[in-house]
Order: sequence, then C-alpha cells, then structure tokens
Amino acid sequence: MERKQFELGDIVQMKKQHPCGTNEMEIIRMGMDIRIKCTGCKHSVLIPRAKFEKNMKKVLRSAASRPDSAPGGLLDGEQA
Ligand SMILES: [Zn+2]
Repeated sequence: MERKQFELGDIVQMKKQHPCGTNEMEIIRMGMDIRIKCTGCKHSVLIPRAKFEKNMKKVLRSAASRPDSAPGGLLDGEQA
C-alpha cells in the first residue's frame, strides 16, 4: 500500500465535506495531530494523523509545487 504524501501548506481534498459545503482543507500544522483549515469557512480542526490519512482523498495543490518555483510557469505580475 502506498502511503499518502502530504506536507505543511498543502491543499487537500477530504472524503467527507465540511458542513459549510467545502471539502478543500489546508494543512496548517503537522505533528502527532494534524491541524487543517477549511478553505470555505476558515474553520480549523485538529485531528489525529491516522484519522486524517483515512479521511483525506487526495492532495489538490502541493505547497512544494507552487507556480513560483516552476520554471517558465510564472503567473502574471508575480515577478518584477
Ligand atoms: Zn467549512
């Protein structure tokens, strides 16, 4: 079984959506427990890592692959 990869700052999709209707969460703290913040209502929750891994569907946007670190993939107005 492949372990899910995720890191601080990643935007992840959860299997169950938040009551506000969003299922995109940002990882804002990593440790024994993971703190995630709902991108819809900004509510944050602390959940055990095992539970997070079980409930997380996939990483939507990785913090390590932001456009500013990709050669030739600059966004408009991001660089002087
Ligand atoms: Zn929410």
